[in-house]
Amino acid sequence: MTELALNGIFRSFGPRGAEARALDGVDVTLSAGETVALVGESGSGKTTLARIAIGLDRPDRGSVLLDGRPLADRRGRIAHADRARVQMVFQDPLASFNPHRSVAASVALPLRLHGGLSRAARRDRVLDLLAAVGLDADLGARAPAALSGGQLQRAAIARALATDPALLICDEPVASLDVSVRAQVLNLLARLRRDRGLGILFVSHDLGVVQRIADRTLVLFHGRVVEEGVGPGLWRVARHPYTRALAAAVPDPAVPWRDRPRALPAAVAAGAEAAGPFAIPSGCRYRLRCPHAVPVCAETDPTLEPVGAPGQRVACLRAGDPALAPPQP
Ligand code: SF4
Repeated sequence: MTELALNGIFRSFGPRGAEARALDGVDVTLSAGETVALVGESGSGKTTLARIAIGLDRPDRGSVLLDGRPLADRRGRIAHADRARVQMVFQDPLASFNPHRSVAASVALPLRLHGGLSRAARRDRVLDLLAAVGLDADLGARAPAALSGGQLQRAAIARALATDPALLICDEPVASLDVSVRAQVLNLLARLRRDRGLGILFVSHDLGVVQRIADRTLVLFHGRVVEEGVGPGLWRVARHPYTRALAAAVPDPAVPWRDRPRALPAAVAAGAEAAGPFAIPSGCRYRLRCPHAVPVCAETDPTLEPVGAPGQRVACLRAGDPALAPPQP
């Protein structure tokens, strides 16, 4: 089974001595047939990690292995066959299409690059791909700007499927879509995973979105995974104060207010010092925003430890405290 493993990934940007640490020792694995969600706010490092996973960026330290072998060689080149096995879907579908090509021509482009098909076979394959994502064949003849956002994101997914990949890296694929269209695209990704055995790394700032399709969820804060959970219910059992703040923003009308995790107190949120990747504080990197911080949080950098539900791991010195226990059903 295909597996992509990112081990101990470090990545910084900016001039020496004033670097911004985007990723600070992140481990992620993605196997065919599972959906791993990577959640965090802007600047958490999630898009950098997605780009590294597909070989569009290189880590300063750490390894990216596809089935145990380096994805890229020392000069960053990726073997043709491996590039076909891991494909990416971008946030802005319009920006990812050539405006001067028809949608069908763009979907066919990976088939031309990877070769092996006649023109007629490519045309048939494009029609199959458009059908697989629920698009009518006649939409393929149109320019990208003539399609709606949802239709174009479907076309982008069709293009990513052209090389029959085992893994898809999806960077905020529904962030620019209306709520109703968003649900359709999420359902499409869930179906593709089920029918084709795809592994999907789903990057999002919205915990509510990823909870619909995630088998595992990793919560990233300032370049570090601060909580990991299994299954779709992490937001219900979250113990890290940052995950709880994300979970409090999930608008699920089926859950009574008293059962939802508490958001940050307004005074803490408003007065929080935005440390950002340029100024990660000593000890716990979340402590400048954390309403549960105690003095030891300034001295000790917490690591991910098992606590709570099966498969749950939390990087918080107080994760086992009753104050951070999820509400009882
Ligand atoms: S270690 Fe301390 S500061 Fe960090 S999240 Fe836990 S309680 Fe808050």
